[in-house]
Amino acid sequence: MIPRMWICPICNQLVPNPVKRKCPNGHGLFDGRIFGSCKQQSFAASFFNTLFACVLIFAAVAAFATLLPKTSPTSLNGATLAAFIVVGIGGFLRGRKWARQGGPVVRLVPRANGMAAGCILAGAVFPLAAGIAGIARGLIR
Ligand SMILES: [Zn+2]
Repeated sequence: MIPRMWICPICNQLVPNPVKRKCPNGHGLFDGRIFGSCKQQSFAASFFNTLFACVLIFAAVAAFATLLPKTSPTSLNGATLAAFIVVGIGGFLRGRKWARQGGPVVRLVPRANGMAAGCILAGAVFPLAAGIAGIARGLIR
């Protein structure tokens, strides 16, 4: 187990005991570009958490789309997938920036990359899964 450490990306320092999820200088320990708290996390943990979150979001949007009579569910689902990929690229770029920056913030890079990989995989794999499901449905009929 890697000891999971809080890191403030603005101060680029370890925050061993955050108070109310803030660093001693008052920065919130949350980064919008990785959609997560600035806590050290392994690539795998970040990847699977993100993938799971994407599945939930996708299912929620798909369920919501069926309630809207005038919206094509396909286009809304497509927009969700495109958003996953955009968010994934944002997370990846954030990780690259942190890696170049050096210092304690480098510890957040696996988290950023794991999150990016999870999002991009979700954006790329769901259409494939939906396509296979569609074909399967066609065969059963
Ligand atoms: Zn700070």
